[in-house]
Amino acid sequence: MKLVAISKTKPVEMIQEAYTSGHTVFGENKVQEMLSKYEQLPKNIEWHLVGHLQSNKVKYIATFVHLIHSVDSKKLLQEIGKQALKNHRVQKVLLQIFIAREETKFGLDRNELFALLDELKINPVAGTQICGLMGMATNTDDETQIRNEFAGLKTLFEEVKTSYYAGDENFCELSMGMSSDYRIAMEEGSTMVRVGSLVFGER
Ligand SMILES: *Cc1c(COP(=O)(O)O)cnc(C)c1O
Repeated sequence: MKLVAISKTKPVEMIQEAYTSGHTVFGENKVQEMLSKYEQLPKNIEWHLVGHLQSNKVKYIATFVHLIHSVDSKKLLQEIGKQALKNHRVQKVLLQIFIAREETKFGLDRNELFALLDELKINPVAGTQICGLMGMATNTDDETQIRNEFAGLKTLFEEVKTSYYAGDENFCELSMGMSSDYRIAMEEGSTMVRVGSLVFGER
């Protein structure tokens, strides 16, 4: 289980403090904010991009970002690959899956996911490595609903692994769980939780 401490809106001093006490994995949801913090903080920090990413901003983080959790289109993946190759890197990414009963959350639905995976099977995007899936549950107090959404994502992850990435040990990450629902996510098979306010305080 990996804890990605989501430091968005929090000052570099707070991140530095967490770093000094031994935590080195942080996540941001905005490119400019991540870049600015990257420049000010120790270079062995592992930075995760968790928010919606526009293709035209990939270049700003392409030299250093460890894992992009929010790939939701072929176009974005292609731009990530292009920038990674420029920097002689292979960029690790997750495909973001829409699992919530809400209109506001980004991500691929099941059909879009399989269409993309079929395309990638024929035309892999050089410079990228797909390491798993990410999803956000509905923002609700209904624990049963949250659990069902996470369980559904876990099932989908296993299905994708078996059908497309059997024998690929890099496809191993399931990023699910935030401050309010990380316990449920862990019980349902998360390998990576993205916890912000519980680590750094309310925003
Ligand atoms: C902000 C954010 C989180 C962390 O949210 P908390 O409720 O503060 O834990 C996790 N994932 C994404 C994609 C986020 O934007």
